[in-house]
Amino acid sequence: MTFDALGLGPELLEGLASLGFEKATPIQEEAIPLILGGKDIIGCAQTGTGKTAAFLLPIIQKIIDNRNEEKTSCLVVVPTRELAVQIDQQLQGLSYFTRVSSIPIYGGSDGDTFSQEKKALSEGASIIIATPGRLIAHLAMNYVNMSDLKFLVLDEADRMLDMGFYQDIRKIISNLPKKRQNLLFSATMPPKIRELAQEVLNDPDEINIAISKPAENIIQVGFSVFDNQKIPLITYLMKQKDFKSVIVFCSTKENTKSLAKELKGLKLSVSDIHSDLDQKSREAVLNEFKAKKLKILVATDILSRGIDIEDVELIINYDVPGDGEDYIHRIGRTARASSTGAAFTLISPRDQYRFAEIEKLIDKTVPKAKVPSHLGETPTYKPPKPKKSGKRSFRRKKKKM
Ligand code: AMP
Repeated sequence: MTFDALGLGPELLEGLASLGFEKATPIQEEAIPLILGGKDIIGCAQTGTGKTAAFLLPIIQKIIDNRNEEKTSCLVVVPTRELAVQIDQQLQGLSYFTRVSSIPIYGGSDGDTFSQEKKALSEGASIIIATPGRLIAHLAMNYVNMSDLKFLVLDEADRMLDMGFYQDIRKIISNLPKKRQNLLFSATMPPKIRELAQEVLNDPDEINIAISKPAENIIQVGFSVFDNQKIPLITYLMKQKDFKSVIVFCSTKENTKSLAKELKGLKLSVSDIHSDLDQKSREAVLNEFKAKKLKILVATDILSRGIDIEDVELIINYDVPGDGEDYIHRIGRTARASSTGAAFTLISPRDQYRFAEIEKLIDKTVPKAKVPSHLGETPTYKPPKPKKSGKRSFRRKKKKM
């Protein structure tokens, strides 16, 4: 469906055309009319579906229609700074031909940024995109003016709850006008999200565009290896082709750092990204990688969700993620927008059970490839049978990535 059939005005159609968006994605087709019609929405959709524009477009349209550009009309709450910046960038593109303004608000910046945020929060920016902690810090100083707020968006709500933001979100909401339109997006719908939805949403319509299984165009392969064979295998794989864009995911920041160090020692074009880096360094690394100046990015799951990077050819799971949904998110970084990509998972003997659980979750047996013989004897892949009901039984407690 084209966007003009969805009731969007000429300014937004011009913005969409300049971004090269020709047809609405399924979630946009479903959500835009509902949001324009004033409905609260609970959307089960992850990044890659076009969900950001699905909520931004109708909100911008309503702000224009009501001539509310000067006031803070919309608050988007997101789990990470990266996502705040990414939504703000998309918003700037979409709203380029309008008078709608926006500002991302997130922690860890300098004093100047804090003053800019304070100005926007007290004097008004049409759309504010904030991480919970930073917004709470501003709220505590009593200058935040949300009295004209009409829209609240909770994006990646499951991620926010995983990161322990439940009480922060409640606190933020207690500072907002009661009468408002609420939109909640989440890649998964565990009971805690349902609880939050019941608390926040008013008779919502539900939209389900979950990519609950990895896209078919991702070639998935597993390698059964001992821990000490992982780096030699990655080095070997990197020599097979001149990969331009590879993400290697590790479950802990310690592994991320040490792996990046090892690969740097092998003269590969590599950098790492995790929560120990400050915001500026994270952005710099991400921009270098997006610009294809950096070929390999070693990352924690901080990068597995929400971040849109084009043309990632290969995802390597240095270790099996502790959560099947993280696996889906990780490998979903490749083969985006219908291109193809590959996802390799290195499975140590202790991770075989977890991997079998993932295969059960995605309802697919991932082929196991042979490791080159010069790397030595490899473990037999023979995982114990996954539990019958164990869809999420192996979920770990999340640590800061
Ligand atoms: P999202 O799921 O919101 O993170 O969007 C994923 C990617 O799809 C982003 O790079 C968007 O810029 C892009 N996108 C969103 N909507 C469309 C559309 N209708 N046509 C083409 N690309 C789109």
